[in-house]
Amino acid sequence: MIQSETEKSMIDSMYEEIGISRPVLSFGRRVEARLAERFHQIDTTAEYNQLKVIRAMQKNRVCAEHFAASSGYGYNDDGRDTLEKVYADAFHAESALVRPQIICGTQALYLALSANLLPGDELFSPVGKPYDTLEEVIGIRESIGSLREYGVTYAQAELKEDGSFDYDAIRAGITPRTKLATIQRSKGYASRPTFSVRQIGELIAFLKSCKPDIICMVDNCYGEFVEEIEPTDVGADMIVGSLIKNPGGGLAPCGGYIAGREDLIERCARRLSSPGLGKEVGANLGVNRDLYQGFFLAPTVTASALKGAILAANIYEELGFRVIPNGSESRHDIIQAVELMSAEGLCAFCEGIQAAAPVDSYVTPVPWDMPGYDSQVIMAAGAFVQGSSIELSADGPLRPPYTAFFQGGLTWPHAKLGILMSLQKMWEKGLVRLPEKA
Ligand SMILES: *Cc1c(COP(=O)(O)O)cnc(C)c1O
Repeated sequence: MIQSETEKSMIDSMYEEIGISRPVLSFGRRVEARLAERFHQIDTTAEYNQLKVIRAMQKNRVCAEHFAASSGYGYNDDGRDTLEKVYADAFHAESALVRPQIICGTQALYLALSANLLPGDELFSPVGKPYDTLEEVIGIRESIGSLREYGVTYAQAELKEDGSFDYDAIRAGITPRTKLATIQRSKGYASRPTFSVRQIGELIAFLKSCKPDIICMVDNCYGEFVEEIEPTDVGADMIVGSLIKNPGGGLAPCGGYIAGREDLIERCARRLSSPGLGKEVGANLGVNRDLYQGFFLAPTVTASALKGAILAANIYEELGFRVIPNGSESRHDIIQAVELMSAEGLCAFCEGIQAAAPVDSYVTPVPWDMPGYDSQVIMAAGAFVQGSSIELSADGPLRPPYTAFFQGGLTWPHAKLGILMSLQKMWEKGLVRLPEKA
């Protein structure tokens, strides 16, 4: 809140010093002023989720000893075990596996799938093609070590044209061998909509009505704490995510989690360590405090990222660009896509995100031939944790419609600065015209 004229001009001159021109700042402020009601809703969700996390920490009597490092086998690591109970309670699940040994979201998903699918079983996606990195995990693209190599087959039902579930195709896609359904909550970098938790609940109910013993797993990446409920509240048997996205709160240096039914999580633990060892081993190597504190911060960090996504959508929509989700839609993940319509636009946008970062702000991102992509890709990130996408970051492939995928922001002021700086770079290069004051 701006208290006085003096403070207001202090902020204005600080924006000027950091490189935001007056016209960009006042346009940004005009757009922001319209978003007060939505931001209030986001704060209310964060407030609820904050209480949920604190309550889970209190219930499990979290104390300073839990932050101690363990080494070697990690036997009797009470901090690790308690953190898993905190995750389980916050997500209303029976059990959880939360480990720095899980490298990233892809590995967490691979773990959950490979632990719970045996040769002859079929994996089913009722929501179309899964996230890119899962293609090799499943064996949709031939790959050494894929589930397919181990005799697990795969089927999928496409979404309808409008992005809704095709219940007939889903019913037809389930066979006696269908063991597990994988449901991706976030659209990731696809063009379909992201599902609300309530929609996921309806889908799960339908899947269980077709086959009562089907295991429903939700890829929860980018979705944690965006709503008051998680897929485990609407019948998901497992939810899976990355700690360098929402639930790590920006502090987790690495890791992944799986939460859900006790028997399924036990299988995951045995697959991660080994049969006979299960959850009992795994040294925390000193990261526990960051994992606890990051989870504590996650609800408000997620809220900051959401506000940034909504501001970006509204700014670029007003300037005539197509944005997905649009400026007024309800949100179910933290990703914002902006179609910038030119290579120069995409590069300028990313330059702005980079220039606004606390780390590596002085470098200029350039497009490169990234392995696995059929066109050049540009990426902007000035993060404390490498590759962290809960921190402010943007990237996109250099091909029409030149979409920037924008996400993260540990604090709202930083998310806002990043967006203003992206606009500044576009404006300086003559790629946008700012509307006259309305
Ligand atoms: C990020 C993401 C993944 C993979 O996570 P990584 O940590 O990048 O391996 C999987 N699914 C979705 C929807 C994601 O957003």
